[in-house]
Amino acid sequence: MNKKVAIIGGGIVGASAAYYLSTLPGGDQINVTLYDDGVGQATSAAAGIISPWLSKRRNQQWYQLAKDGATTLMTLARRANLSTDVYHQTGTIVTRTNEKDLHDLYVLAQERREDAPDMGEIKQLDEQQVKQRMPFLTRSQPGIFISGGARVDGAALVEKLLAQAQQVNLIVKRERVKLDDHGKVITSMGPQRFDQVIIAAGPWINELLKPMGINVDVRPQKGQLLELSIPDFPNQENMPVMMPEGERDIIPFGQGKLIVGATHDDEGQFDLSITPEATQDLMTSAQAFVDSLSADNIIRSKVGTRAYTSDFAPFFGRLQSHPHLLVASGLGASGLTTGPLIGRLLAGTLIYGGTPDWSNYEKPLSTYLS
Ligand SMILES: Cc1cc2nc3c(=O)[nH]c(=O)nc-3n(C[C@H](O)[C@H](O)[C@H](O)COP(=O)(O)OP(=O)(O)OC[C@H]3O[C@@H](n4cnc5c(N)ncnc54)[C@H](O)[C@@H]3O)c2cc1C
Repeated sequence: MNKKVAIIGGGIVGASAAYYLSTLPGGDQINVTLYDDGVGQATSAAAGIISPWLSKRRNQQWYQLAKDGATTLMTLARRANLSTDVYHQTGTIVTRTNEKDLHDLYVLAQERREDAPDMGEIKQLDEQQVKQRMPFLTRSQPGIFISGGARVDGAALVEKLLAQAQQVNLIVKRERVKLDDHGKVITSMGPQRFDQVIIAAGPWINELLKPMGINVDVRPQKGQLLELSIPDFPNQENMPVMMPEGERDIIPFGQGKLIVGATHDDEGQFDLSITPEATQDLMTSAQAFVDSLSADNIIRSKVGTRAYTSDFAPFFGRLQSHPHLLVASGLGASGLTTGPLIGRLLAGTLIYGGTPDWSNYEKPLSTYLS
């Protein structure tokens, strides 16, 4: 008889896990049901920048996870045949105004590439060269171009992954579920029996695990971004993403659409309202580089809730106290980069069993769950 598996959460982690459960050898012996209500989902609100290589974070486990995550997403995009609307390796430009900082960043990029060939070509660009690559800018800064950098549309990505898995072994249910004190899934139809459950519920993991007396070191953080129109540049789909120093990121998305984001609001918690202060903050950032932008250019605003741990690092794995439960959360501001790899690792351990050693990617689960 086929194994029955539930996934709670249909963001990047849940959707990637579902995709790999449908494609990894042995996955066809499993029936998967994914529950997701989509409220506050970070994945569909994300800016979508994939460029972890120049991060100054000292956490080496996080860097390994993010670096390998960017490679996993690259491979996934090829295998799942994702169009450039969904995932596009346009390159990214990290800018610095100070000449020495720029030089240091260039040296760091060269060092990092030795261990990360997927970074591709690295180039130091002056202001004019940045402008040549992004002609809609009225002001620019010198920067480091990394050709392997990419942008991804989180909402479109999870839709594609779920659609492909639905053709194999996945059923998607758009509803909010709970767990009881034994970790059994309670749906609108009552308690359901599953052999294993993946909890990929972002910052909502706390409320799910509470009935079992498990506390999770995860807090919610509100993030808002703006989608703007730049009608004079309808064909900017190949332009790189710009990550300016001290300002919000600028992401040309093709078809005359520009994304500016994102805010990081710890006070906002689970609030999903669009605030005029955040809108103004994002607009000011955009206007620092594109003079002509005004409120008339706003297409829409998006808000999502990120999950953060105390050390800003994600965690994932099987619960020792409840071995039928696998968890993942705390992906923070780089979850589109790390999420596909986390989803693949969880799917693999679910199919093949065992307790893999992921200490190159994360601290022990007990660091975050008590
Ligand atoms: C504004 C913003 C910009 C960002 N920009 C980037 C970026 O440029 N690059 C990058 O790499 N990352 C970025 N991120 C971070 C990234 O989006 C997140 O880290 C990642 O999407 C988290 O994925 P997840 O699957 O863990 O959670 P989520 O995407 O939040 O998915 C969790 C899902 O679980 C569902 N759920 C929760 N509880 C239940 C329940 N009880 N029953 C059913 N469903 C439930 C929720 O509704 C949600 O759909 C950004 C995030 C935000 C908010």
